Amino acid sequence: MFEKLKNLKTYEAGKPIELVVREYGINPKDIIKLASNENPYGPAPKVIEEVKENAKFMHRYPDDSFYELKGKLSTLFGVEDKNIIIGAGSDQVIEFVVHGIMPKKILRAGITFAMYDIYSKQVGSEIIKTKSNTHNLDEFYEEYKKYKPEIIFLCIPNNPLGECVDSRDVFEFIEKIDENTMILIDGAYQEFAKYKDKNKEIKPKDILKYKNVIYTGTFSKAYGLGGMRVGYGIANDFIVKNLHKLRPPFNITTLSLLAAIRALDEQDWVNMGIENNFKEMQKYIDFAKEKNLDYIESFTNFIVLYIKNSTKIANELLKRGIIVRDMAGYGFDALRVTIGKPQENDKLIKTLREIS
Ligand SMILES: *Cc1c(COP(=O)(O)O)cnc(C)c1O
Repeated sequence: MFEKLKNLKTYEAGKPIELVVREYGINPKDIIKLASNENPYGPAPKVIEEVKENAKFMHRYPDDSFYELKGKLSTLFGVEDKNIIIGAGSDQVIEFVVHGIMPKKILRAGITFAMYDIYSKQVGSEIIKTKSNTHNLDEFYEEYKKYKPEIIFLCIPNNPLGECVDSRDVFEFIEKIDENTMILIDGAYQEFAKYKDKNKEIKPKDILKYKNVIYTGTFSKAYGLGGMRVGYGIANDFIVKNLHKLRPPFNITTLSLLAAIRALDEQDWVNMGIENNFKEMQKYIDFAKEKNLDYIESFTNFIVLYIKNSTKIANELLKRGIIVRDMAGYGFDALRVTIGKPQENDKLIKTLREIS
């Protein structure tokens, strides 16, 4: 039994606050969690009100057509309802794509979002990686010609490194790829990227003409709804129709649905979070420059700082109630730090000064 799972690894999520409370006896209030790229400001207050007011309806299934949510998303992106599929996080949409195609081979950047491999290995795919850790589309094209993978994952911008290729290069790349290869553009951090640099913006409506491209987006990052699990895929209706065959009924909750709908009305709140994100990120850049640390220019809500003995430092931070992501598992010493609230960032930088 479970023979086929023998070579699969379990996804390691950022350490939850509860674990640090248990292991180090730190008051939950004092824990600073900068490890999972969550929005430190949370959702807009009106979203929380909406969920509270409707908590009494949790015995009801949600509207399984997701009519209102799709309506709002189609207005936001200039697409039609038939181009949208809703998932329990965009993770679930990625799962639908992989399980729907059951690729023999997939192609991805050297270092990228871990779930691409996990879903692909579940269906026995071989994983092809580019030599470069970050996205290099010339290398992608070389590997594509050599291996003809059925799915290519482009994480734009990329988690966990934070770099972002220009959208013009992405569309040039798409044009060179045969229709038998699906290109999945993971836009989990697009809200951040396009705020920082218009050249990074992927407009989902521009991919509808392709029968082999899907864009995925999420409410977990810029919209501050990570715990509600809402994401979406946008594609040509041929793709969406097929993915719907894999979707379980009521795949997001009644309250998640309401929260996502309401969150789309609160764009000022989302923009506030994004503006603060880049303002606060500058503190880490200044710190890195001062200490002569390398870092990767980031178009997201996190930043990778190369720092010696990163495992030791991550552990020291943990003892002090600060959770970040150690990158040593990828073969180099670095920390991935989610940009937090001003005081959280100040505390982390102060602590780094003390211990490194
Ligand atoms: C966070 C993230 C997702 C999806 O998150 P969900 O919470 O499942 O919507 C997808 N891709 C990348 C690259 C991410 O960082």
